[in-house]
Amino acid sequence: MSFFNQKYQTLVPYTPGEQNATEEIIKLNTNENPYEPSQEVIKAAKKAAATLARYSDPTCKIIRKPLADYLGIKQDQIFIGNGSDDVLALLFQGFTEQGVVYPDISYGFYDVYRRFFQIPATIVPLDEQFQISLNDYVDTTGTIVLANPNAPTGQIISKDEIITFLKTYPNRLLIVDEAYADFGSESVAREVGNYPNLIVVGTFSKSRQLAGARLGFALANEAIINDLNRLKFSINPYSVNTMSLYCGVASLASQDYVDDCVQKIIATRTFLTTELTKLDFQVLPSSANFVFARHPKIDGERLYQKLRQAKIYVRWFNQERVANFIRISIGTQKEMVYFIEKIQQILQEEINDA
Ligand SMILES: *Cc1c(COP(=O)(O)O)cnc(C)c1O
Repeated sequence: MSFFNQKYQTLVPYTPGEQNATEEIIKLNTNENPYEPSQEVIKAAKKAAATLARYSDPTCKIIRKPLADYLGIKQDQIFIGNGSDDVLALLFQGFTEQGVVYPDISYGFYDVYRRFFQIPATIVPLDEQFQISLNDYVDTTGTIVLANPNAPTGQIISKDEIITFLKTYPNRLLIVDEAYADFGSESVAREVGNYPNLIVVGTFSKSRQLAGARLGFALANEAIINDLNRLKFSINPYSVNTMSLYCGVASLASQDYVDDCVQKIIATRTFLTTELTKLDFQVLPSSANFVFARHPKIDGERLYQKLRQAKIYVRWFNQERVANFIRISIGTQKEMVYFIEKIQQILQEEINDA
């Protein structure tokens, strides 16, 4: 017999990329930042450690002020959560009365959450170029959830297209997940004061080198932020720990360092895209810290396995339309040079064998 609630017996959880990587593995599977946090962040963690006898601040005041200044919005338009996954979970739970709508190829957690919360969903296919067109969402009902840049495709929707939609359909709630915005899309963060039907979700995990700290946020008008806090304070008010808050504040204070690392990642993304294209890969144009690519002569799963044997972890999704692609997070320049060497070897072996 099982003591587990019946309604969860068939729950399908999210499959995270492997985190057991040792020194010798090149880890390009979870879109983390390959650079370590700034020295200021490391110092801040130590300072925070000395205060851990006390509970963390459930209102997360110390970070909302500098984050508001950085984004050019008001503190009361910011909600802080334990990673943006936590924030997305609260949004799926609390803001989807009419159902949810999202692309067939997008962040895997959208599907997991809507099943977990038993929300009716409409899945809209990306177009032939694997792009999102908001026109395809006009005749649907429910809260729209889009990642911009999208994952795992890396492609973007323009700010104009988003704003036009928000203006034209003021009764449609649009959640824009900007986990990768710092790597190349136009953020709509500053628009949350202008459009009560817009929620922007962001994270310190990708561009800010704090994936392990679990720090994410939602930006929206004050009414939505109040409702999010009502949910948070009904479940786990202390969900964001003091160490992470201090580290986040220090990250915002070391903006030059963060920007430098982002620029390096963008340069390496250009290098990787060029090299893969030379090797006959189709690489979708990426505005994120990863690329999504396929080779006409090797199956995606096979390539993923071959790379794994070479101690390089990338991500492969066993999903219709994209099963021939692999998603490669952008590592350091040195890692990507090595990655290209290995890919060349694998291609030689595989294509000669065939
Ligand atoms: C990585 C990612 C997240 C989750 O980030 P956390 O803040 O680490 O929970 C959310 N959305 C997308 C599209 C992501 O790729």
